[in-house]
Amino acid sequence: MPSKLAAPRGTQDIFPPQSGRWQELEAHVHTLTRSYGYGEIRTPIFESTELFVRGVGETSDIVEKEMYTFDDKGGRSMTLRPEWTAPVVRAALQHGLFTEGPQRLYYLGPIFRYERPQAGRYRQSHQFGIECAGFAQPEADAEVISLAWDLLQAYKIAGVTLKLNSIGDENCRPKYRDALRAHFLPHRDSLSADSQRRLERNPLRVLDSKASEDRELVASAPAFEDFLCPECRAHFDGVKRALDADGVAYEADSHIVRGLDYYTRTVFEFRSDALGAQNTICAGGRYDGLVASLGGPDVPAVGFALGLERFLWAVESAGTNEEARREGVQAIAIGAQALQALLPLVAALRRTSGWPIFIDYGDRKLLAQLKLADRNNARYALILGEQELAEGQIVLRDLVTRTDRPLPFGKDTLEALGEMRE
Ligand code: ATP
Ligand code: MG
Repeated sequence: MPSKLAAPRGTQDIFPPQSGRWQELEAHVHTLTRSYGYGEIRTPIFESTELFVRGVGETSDIVEKEMYTFDDKGGRSMTLRPEWTAPVVRAALQHGLFTEGPQRLYYLGPIFRYERPQAGRYRQSHQFGIECAGFAQPEADAEVISLAWDLLQAYKIAGVTLKLNSIGDENCRPKYRDALRAHFLPHRDSLSADSQRRLERNPLRVLDSKASEDRELVASAPAFEDFLCPECRAHFDGVKRALDADGVAYEADSHIVRGLDYYTRTVFEFRSDALGAQNTICAGGRYDGLVASLGGPDVPAVGFALGLERFLWAVESAGTNEEARREGVQAIAIGAQALQALLPLVAALRRTSGWPIFIDYGDRKLLAQLKLADRNNARYALILGEQELAEGQIVLRDLVTRTDRPLPFGKDTLEALGEMRE
């Protein structure tokens, strides 16, 4: 294939058996969110560019350098969704959801960021996330964190730590910002170019730096905990208390700040030591100012976003991926006459059994068709040859124990198979 027809750099095709793991995770997400009382929201894959500039913040990595932005044929600037929170808030405002009271929403789908592709970092990736809007109380923060915790626990992902921090509010953040500036400014020239720029525009973001030359100065930076105002401190304590009550283990880490500008108070990340440099699986926090900044009422909210690629990568590297279970039936006909006789049974099984039913329409030998059964990971083979057809029988082969059992062929076959299931 000419390489220009290959999938674009930083994107992935997902096909069996991997797509089965995606479906299983997605099904788990739908069930888990339901048990916490969350409903799904779906928004367009592109939105006006202005939504993200205003909603994510001009000094964020996303807006500074990662957006897929284009002019549509009407000359409007559009951007492929780089994150979900701004679109979710936009949709909730547009449809008056916040006037109906608290909202618990979740989303599942692709995001687009122009990044340097590497393991765990793609240009199209997928996020599952939740937004809990309408509660200022710390119990809501703990609820959101607990839901993510439950998902990671259910998949037994090893080496995961939950890092928790508070980045205060408009009362205490300016003081902390000044303290950070005072800490970094004398060493400005030894910082990475990115951090030098951030130091002026948004010094908290320097703490988020991944550049090795920044590491030491970041490690010795003052901690926000020492600058929190009484209200923010009480909130932080409340989150910890509620997490303790939920049985969620966390580590306080004063360097967790999050890249997006709209966070207030609680911020958190789930990291896995199985993932190398791209080790954050899930990240989130509280963003009490966002709804108002997008023109809505004063609605406090808290949420997270979890990267599905990184999540599945962590599952894989933990080796907890079970070997695919054998399931279903390979229907095997030997000869054209047997095939015609077998087709109605195949149709009936597909409609009633709930099993995957496989069949080969080519005129292949028994051995070749049994190979197909293995490739399909079928649990049983139903084999109909000319002799069986003449005798009114069909052979059921258990592909695990490799034993055969003759069954009556015809309308009794379904019944016999049904009994075998129990
Ligand atoms: P990073 O610091 O790794 O760039 P981020 O701060 O940009 O992450 P968020 O915007 O908080 O990440 O997104 C939440 C989660 O979405 C991340 O923790 C990660 O699991 C996933 N994610 C973000 N960007 C990508 C990407 N380009 N490819 C794959 N997953 C991603
Ligand atoms: Mg990023």
